[in-house]
Amino acid sequence: MTSTTVFVSGANGYIAQHIIKQLLGKNYNVIGSVRSQSKGEDLASLVNHSNFSYVVIPSIGDKDAFYDVLQSHPEITIFLHTASPVTFEIDDVERDLLRPAIDGTINALAAIKKHAPQIERVVITSSGGAVFGFNNYFNRGTIHTEESWNPISYEESKSGDAVNGYFGSKKYAELAALEFVETEKPNFDVSFVTPVYNFGPQAYEVKDKSKLNFSAEVVNTVLKFKKEDSIPEFGNIFADVRDVAHAHIVAFESKESKGKRLLVASDNFTFDSIAHIINKHFPNVQIPQGDLSKNEAIYEQMVQKYDNSRTNEILGFDLISLEQSIIDTVGQLLA
Ligand code: NAP
Repeated sequence: MTSTTVFVSGANGYIAQHIIKQLLGKNYNVIGSVRSQSKGEDLASLVNHSNFSYVVIPSIGDKDAFYDVLQSHPEITIFLHTASPVTFEIDDVERDLLRPAIDGTINALAAIKKHAPQIERVVITSSGGAVFGFNNYFNRGTIHTEESWNPISYEESKSGDAVNGYFGSKKYAELAALEFVETEKPNFDVSFVTPVYNFGPQAYEVKDKSKLNFSAEVVNTVLKFKKEDSIPEFGNIFADVRDVAHAHIVAFESKESKGKRLLVASDNFTFDSIAHIINKHFPNVQIPQGDLSKNEAIYEQMVQKYDNSRTNEILGFDLISLEQSIIDTVGQLLA
């Protein structure tokens, strides 16, 4: 029985809900932040656990966003920062993506240093977007590892489209955190989880299945194809959301992960491979057959190479396969 209290920012998010579920399963107490009272009430009724409570933090970009929760909850010793904008429907890349991601991270770290000296471990959810370069920065010749950085500059990210903005927001939030640790020398250790595309079921009941969070919507998109549609050529790297959540727990529980980046990645995917798995396991679903013979060509065009063996060694558990992840995701959507 643990009485450790963990704070989770962005608690109603896709990944955060799984983190919360797993933390509660391990008898941690959890305090999560959401942007409004109504989101907090919705989440509390889904989670439905006496060891879970929420606080309202309307914007992580506000300098004092985390002061109240840290001052009024001295029992928090672990801080998991998952909140960050994950949207491509924006008007201004810097205002809507870069600044909230970077400032939100620094506001969290500065508040912990000032108001919560008892906090020992901080985990920041970064992204494969901070590791791999995409579009103009795609480099199939490089084997990416936990040491790799997306080459995109802040200026290129700011003046590019929302995709470049999102990747830059994750890269520069992570770099800002590293600089904070270097210059401020806080009491706590920071680890980063840098996952690729997350698939897998939602942690709790899904009230609106018509549009999911960005990454889970990839699977939903394939499920919405009509039998006569041709499947667009698209591929990337995936990890199951339950493994990504588990990685956040390893990131603060293990000594080996102190100061490290965990590059959580299970396998490559294409729209075709997702369609193939759906056809195999859900024969009543009327979508096009996926053509697996196209995969290698799509990987050459769109999917980076990587070696995350150091992460897998720290994680110490087997990652969920693409097939199982799609079965569980689609099973929940069709239920
Ligand atoms: P999500 O479901 O959209 O969750 C994002 C969370 O961040 C939500 O709680 C959202 O609140 C909150 N948030 C966004 N902007 C905020 C702001 N300015 N102030 C306060 N809260 C804010 O996305 P997710 O997929 O779970 O992503 C969680 C984290 O994982 C993010 O850091 C993301 O970059 C990272 N990540 C995700 C994936 C993936 O494939 N899903 C892959 C790599 C990295 P609202 O619900 O109120 O908007």
